[in-house]
Amino acid sequence: MLSVEEAQAEILGRARSLPTERVDILASLGRVLAEPIRSTRRIPPWPNSSMDGYAVRASDTRPTATLTVVDRVVAGSLPTRAVGAGEAVRIFTGAPMPPGADAVIPQEDVEARNGVVALRGAVESGAFVRPAGEDVREGDLVLEPGRPIGAAEIGILATLGRTQVTVGRRPRVAVLSTGTELADLGTEPTPAQIPNSNTYSLMAQITEAGGLPMNLGVAPDRLEAIAERIKRGMEADALVTSAGVSVGELDLVREALVNAGAELHLWKVDMRPGKPITFGTLGERPVFGLPGNPVSAMVTFELFVRPMLLAMQGRRATSRPTVTATALQPIVNRGSRRGYLRVVLEARDGRWTARLTGDQGSGILRSMVSADGLAILAGDTTVATGDDVEVIVLREVSR
Ligand code: AMP
Ligand code: MG
Repeated sequence: MLSVEEAQAEILGRARSLPTERVDILASLGRVLAEPIRSTRRIPPWPNSSMDGYAVRASDTRPTATLTVVDRVVAGSLPTRAVGAGEAVRIFTGAPMPPGADAVIPQEDVEARNGVVALRGAVESGAFVRPAGEDVREGDLVLEPGRPIGAAEIGILATLGRTQVTVGRRPRVAVLSTGTELADLGTEPTPAQIPNSNTYSLMAQITEAGGLPMNLGVAPDRLEAIAERIKRGMEADALVTSAGVSVGELDLVREALVNAGAELHLWKVDMRPGKPITFGTLGERPVFGLPGNPVSAMVTFELFVRPMLLAMQGRRATSRPTVTATALQPIVNRGSRRGYLRVVLEARDGRWTARLTGDQGSGILRSMVSADGLAILAGDTTVATGDDVEVIVLREVSR
């Protein structure tokens, strides 16, 4: 049985980035940058004032000095003359510094009357001046490929005059739920059926990971039915199935994948929830056979499918952040397998705390609803109240 890390390495070792595409910068939010962004501009282009006040020569400034105001520069205009000895130029925030001046005195620090300003003190050279290129110098590598694009990145792209940017293509991911007991959304379950939830949680996880989900519906536990859906999934860049990957006689997904021509690279992983999970390749396509229990499907998606989908988009860093949290209660992992236990995270007195979401059964989807993170416990271990535990952070924690 592979460890989670071995399985992740096996999976990511087979990751290939999809072709790239160019999109408008605003459409690149959340996408993965696929080109190095070098600056073609200097920002700001010239030294400018960070205050409304007077541009001066710092060497002229001392208490009781008076300076003659010889010009006025507003943001959006250029100075028409230099500042000489004993002179000042009225200046506004963002306006270019006039030649000769090397400092700005904020307007609230002077007494201005009849074209003359009386100072109360000295300022140092460079005071309230934003130097040219303090944000971006020409030729700087401002953004490296492989990083996700957020609001600040989009601002920088606009600053550099970029209307479009190259990003990794979103993977199309086909999702197939298997199980004769499943009634799909829109049909009332018969007395022998349960509702299909995995298709929807998985499609949502795919979307969150930047993918485009494609719903292959539900196949009953029959080889031909599963095979027919898998064939339709060949349109996609990746395939994710749920259920039917264990050792029962109705666990037919592996056989169906092999019949379709897939090469299977791993099966069992030392973890709970989860364990039976299949990863293979069907042509270039990664295929994942996730377990059917709703929590197991979501957790194995987190640990194995999400990193792969990010890598396909060209993401360098594919793992979630982890935090060290103080256990507010004993957290017990019974059994020899590595445990991923659902926890609520809370910040208290500058530290993270973790408590279990409740019953950890792998069929209890509501435990995922309240989970902010997954506490990682080695097999047969207990974290005592007050002890530290490592937690994978699944979402923004705010309450
Ligand atoms: P299996 O992996 O086929 O043994 O399924 C494990 C458990 O997950 C069984 O109780 C199934 O009924 C349940 N299950 C399988 N697929 C789904 C699904 N798509 N939605 C909700 N529960 C499911
Ligand atoms: Mg089943």
